[in-house]
Amino acid sequence: MFDLKKTLSQSATPTVSARALEDRYGAKNYHPLPAELTRGEGSYLWDTEGRRYIDMMAAYSAVSFGHANPELLDVFTRQASRLAVTSRAFYTDQLGPFAEAVCKLTGLDRMLPMNTGAEAVETAIKAARKWGHKVKGIPANQAQIIVAAGNFAGRTTTVISFSSEEQYKDGFGPFTPGFVAVPFGDADALEQAITPNTAAFLVEPVQGEAGIIVPPAGYLKRAREICTRHNVLLICDEVQTGMGRTGRNFGFEHDGIKPDAITLGKALGGGLLPVSAFVATEAVMSVFNPGDHGSTFGGNPLACAVGLASVNLLQTEKLAERAEATGSYLIQRLQRFDHPAIKAVRGRGLFIGMELDPKVVTAREFCEALLLRGVLSKDTHHTVVRFAPPLNISRETIDQALAVIEATLDEFSMVPALTV
Ligand SMILES: *Cc1c(COP(=O)(O)O)cnc(C)c1O
Repeated sequence: MFDLKKTLSQSATPTVSARALEDRYGAKNYHPLPAELTRGEGSYLWDTEGRRYIDMMAAYSAVSFGHANPELLDVFTRQASRLAVTSRAFYTDQLGPFAEAVCKLTGLDRMLPMNTGAEAVETAIKAARKWGHKVKGIPANQAQIIVAAGNFAGRTTTVISFSSEEQYKDGFGPFTPGFVAVPFGDADALEQAITPNTAAFLVEPVQGEAGIIVPPAGYLKRAREICTRHNVLLICDEVQTGMGRTGRNFGFEHDGIKPDAITLGKALGGGLLPVSAFVATEAVMSVFNPGDHGSTFGGNPLACAVGLASVNLLQTEKLAERAEATGSYLIQRLQRFDHPAIKAVRGRGLFIGMELDPKVVTAREFCEALLLRGVLSKDTHHTVVRFAPPLNISRETIDQALAVIEATLDEFSMVPALTV
């Protein structure tokens, strides 16, 4: 039998690293970059060998407030020791204030708490379908939801059913029917795809996992007009773009619109635990009756306390404004790197993608090289390196990261005498 400890004890490494155990005993559904992390503080992470890194991806935007944010940590530890989990069989003193804060911040009427982003999206799908059947009058089981090609909304079987990414689907069928995809950013295509059975249009204000794709100006505004005209719900998936990431509290604010519903997740949990929510108008949320839908952990007191503190911190620390200011500085500096490997730099707020020419360097190779120099990021779609640090990252740390990015780019110069 394969004995990892024995194999390793015979090798140069005397002890079994946690990384080796993960490789041996963990499912291989991820291909982590080679840093074994053990501690985080603010915008920094440390590995088990004591090396310090600047965190430029913040756990796919879940750590917008920085690692071990002292205020959130204080709320977390106090609430955890008082009351953590009760289930929704009872009221608690935490859910109401959290729901109120989320509704006031989003301008919507009611909140349904879940845990992960994918669950919030599943909730949105159920709400849209039920609204379609019970309110709009779509014949039973005929409701359709229009999505944008290139979407990412999680990994459940229904959510991957409307993914346009082959790998996410390969071997996982049969898939949930009832979804129609249109090109992202094309409002005319949305209007043409609407039928009397269309219940909703589900869209990310900026597509994250697709490679930080910013739609043409006014896209959501037009989508809002079209959806209103055809009695179709506009649902924004704000799991990643929400909570200040794009330089506004929510991505839909860039277009000055009000969606019928949104999904939240990632940063809502303050980088400490999974907290997500489906937030909607009264008209949409009223489709849910007791027993229709739920979650054992959704809305637990610990999640609510941290969620409320996160929503408050977003406002008191003016994190959207900081994301806007730091983000435009970062994007301008990146755009000034005149390098043959860079095909494009794009983004909104601190949600930035640098698209590389894979003939010069792949995004994975680039991230591995960045890691060796002390900056952590992750490639998305093989060609894009994302820069999405905590929203409260200092200008000084951004400058340090930029120096590392510049030095790493120099490593991959094809042209011998590159003019900078
Ligand atoms: C990450 C993400 C999700 C899924 O969130 P999980 O917590 O991973 O389930 C959904 N929508 C968007 C836009 C995301 O970026």
